[in-house]
Amino acid sequence: MSIQRIRLGALALGLLALVLFPLVSTNLYFQNLLILTFMLAIGATSWNVMGGYAGYLSLGSSAFIGLGAYTTGILNTQSGLSPFVGCLAGGVVAATVAALLSLATSRTRGMYFVIVTFATLELLGLVARNWSSLTGGAAGLALPLPTWDLKYENWPFYYSLLVLLVATVATSALLRRSKLGAGLFAIQDDEGKAAGLGIRTAVYKMVAFVAGSAFLGVAGGIYGYYVDYLDPTAMFDIVTSVLMVLAALLGGRGTLWGPVLGAFLVEPLAEFTNTGLGGADAGAIRLITFGSLLGAVVLFLPRGILPSLRQRRAERARGSRRAASTFAGPSALAIAVDVARPRVAARGQGDLLRTHELARSFGGIPAVSGVDLALRPGEVTGLIGPNGSGKTTLFNLLDGTLSPSAGQVFLEGRRLDTKGRAFRAHSGIARTYQLPRLFPSLTVLENLVLPERSTRPGRWLRPRVLPSERAAASAMLDRLGLFAFADASPTELSYGQRKLVELAQVLALAPVLVLLDEPAAGISPALTQRLVAMVTELNAAGVSFLVVEHDLAFIGEICDRVYVMAAGEVISTGTVDEVSQDARVVDAYLGDFAALTTASEVDQ
Ligand code: ADP
Ligand code: MG
Repeated sequence: MSIQRIRLGALALGLLALVLFPLVSTNLYFQNLLILTFMLAIGATSWNVMGGYAGYLSLGSSAFIGLGAYTTGILNTQSGLSPFVGCLAGGVVAATVAALLSLATSRTRGMYFVIVTFATLELLGLVARNWSSLTGGAAGLALPLPTWDLKYENWPFYYSLLVLLVATVATSALLRRSKLGAGLFAIQDDEGKAAGLGIRTAVYKMVAFVAGSAFLGVAGGIYGYYVDYLDPTAMFDIVTSVLMVLAALLGGRGTLWGPVLGAFLVEPLAEFTNTGLGGADAGAIRLITFGSLLGAVVLFLPRGILPSLRQRRAERARGSRRAASTFAGPSALAIAVDVARPRVAARGQGDLLRTHELARSFGGIPAVSGVDLALRPGEVTGLIGPNGSGKTTLFNLLDGTLSPSAGQVFLEGRRLDTKGRAFRAHSGIARTYQLPRLFPSLTVLENLVLPERSTRPGRWLRPRVLPSERAAASAMLDRLGLFAFADASPTELSYGQRKLVELAQVLALAPVLVLLDEPAAGISPALTQRLVAMVTELNAAGVSFLVVEHDLAFIGEICDRVYVMAAGEVISTGTVDEVSQDARVVDAYLGDFAALTTASEVDQ
C-alpha cells in the first residue's frame, strides 16, 4: 500500500514539474527536448499496447506518425484547416490503416507482423515521395508558421503533446487492467489456447493495434506542425520506429510505465548524440551508441528496468505464499456446475457430437482417416490407442485447432467444422491439453476467469476480475486445495496442479462437452482421485466428456464407452470390457499394454 502511495506521489510530482516547466523556464533547448521526449513516450506507449501486451512486435510505428503528419499538412494546405483540428483526422487515418493491416495479418503470427509493418512503412514513404501533387514529393510540404504571440514560445505544442501523452498512458492503463488487456496478454502467451477459450483473438488484436495507432496519428499531426515542414525521409523514418521499440524494451515491455521511463532515458541520449557530437564521425558514433545500448538491454536487462526491479519484490512474496490462509467461502464446483446447467437442459435428443468420415493428413500421410464418432449427451466416452494413433489430432479437428482434409463435425446437429475456434468454444466445446497450457502472464485466478462464453464487447473494458468472478473462482481454487495460489503465477504450480487448474479453467465456458487429453498422465494418485471426483461430479450435473488416456483403470472407472484408435482409424468401440476382448484391439494396443505392465511388474 505504502509503495503504491509513494509511486502515486512521485507521478503527481513528475507531472506537476512537467506542467510548470515552460512557465518557469525560458530555456527553449529543454522545451524542445521535452517535446521530442513526449513524442517518443507516446510512440513507445502505443507500441507497447500491441508489442508489449499482445506480443506483436511492430517496426512500422513511425508510419502512423507520418500518416498523421501528412493528413494534417494536406488538410491545411488544401483547405486551410487548423493543424490542431487536422491532427484528429490524422488519428482517424492512422487508425483506419491500422485496422486494414490488422485484417491483412489476422491469420498470421510472429515474424510476419514485423515484416508487414516494416514493409508498410517503406511503402508509405514511397507513396509520399512519388505522389507529388498531394504530398509535395521529395521537395516536401511546408505548413504555415504558428500565428500565436512569440512570448508563448512552443507552449501549444508542448501542452497538447503532454495532454496526449497522459491520454495515451491512461488508455494503456485502462486496457492493461481490463478483460481486453488480460486477453491480449493471453494472446501473447498462447494465442491458440486463448482462441480455444472463446476469445476472438483477431478482434482483440485489431482493437489493440487501432487504439495505439490512433494516438500516434494525432501525435504525428502535432509534430508535423511543430517541425513545420514534412519530408518523406524524415516522416517515414525507420530510426524513429527503432527508438520507440528501444525505449519500450529498456523501460520494460508489457509494463505501463516502462515505455515512458525508457523514452525519458533514450530521447535525451539521442538528442545528445545528435547535437553534442560534431564532426565527420557523429553518425557512426550515434549508431554505435544505440547499437550498444540495444545490445546491453538484451544482454543485461532482457525484461527491461521496471520488471527487473519488480522481480525482486515478487520473489520475497513467493516465500510467504505456502503459509497463507485458505479461503472459507461457499464450497465448490457447484458454482461452475450451476453455470453449466442451463445449456445442458436446453439440449435435445440425439447425438451430442457426431463426426462423419473425419480425416486429416499431414504432407500426404494420414493422421486421422474416416473417423465416425457419435457421442451421446451425458456420457463419458473414452478414446484409447497407441501413441501416434491420431487421438490428439482428432481433438484438434473437433476444437478447430486444425481444419479437416475431409469430413464433417456436428454438435447438437449444427455443423461446426467450418467454424473458428472461438465459435466452437461459445457453442460449448472445451478442451484441455496433453501438456497443460496456462497463461504465465496472468495469475492463477485471472486464468480461471479469462474464458469468454460469448462475444460481448461491453465486458471488455471492465476489470479483469469482477467481484462475482473472484468469489466463484476462489471457491473453485479452494475446492482444488489451491486457494493460496490465487494471485500467484501458474508457473508456481506443479504439473499435476496445472492440469487440475486447466480443467477448472475450461469450466468457465459452461461447456456441454469437455475434451480431456491424457488428464491423468504424469500426476500423483492423490490428484488423480481428485480428478475422478471432479469428472464424476460434473458428469452428474450433465456435462459430457471425451477422454484420451492410457491409464485403463482410470478409463474403466469413469467411462461409459470407449473408442479405440490405431493408425488414424477407429478400430473398435464398446465398453472397456468389450473392447478388451476384441482381437484387433489386443493386437494394436492392449498387447503392448499387457507386455509393458508385465515388464514393470518384473522391474518391481
Ligand atoms: P496421439 O495423440 O494418438 O499420440 P497424434 O494425433 O499426436 O497421436 O499424432 C498422430 C500422427 O500425426 C503422428 O504420426 C504424428 O506424428 C502426426 N502429426 C500430428 N500432428 C502433426 C503435425 N502438426 N504435423 C505433422 N504431423 C503431425
Ligand atoms: Mg496425444
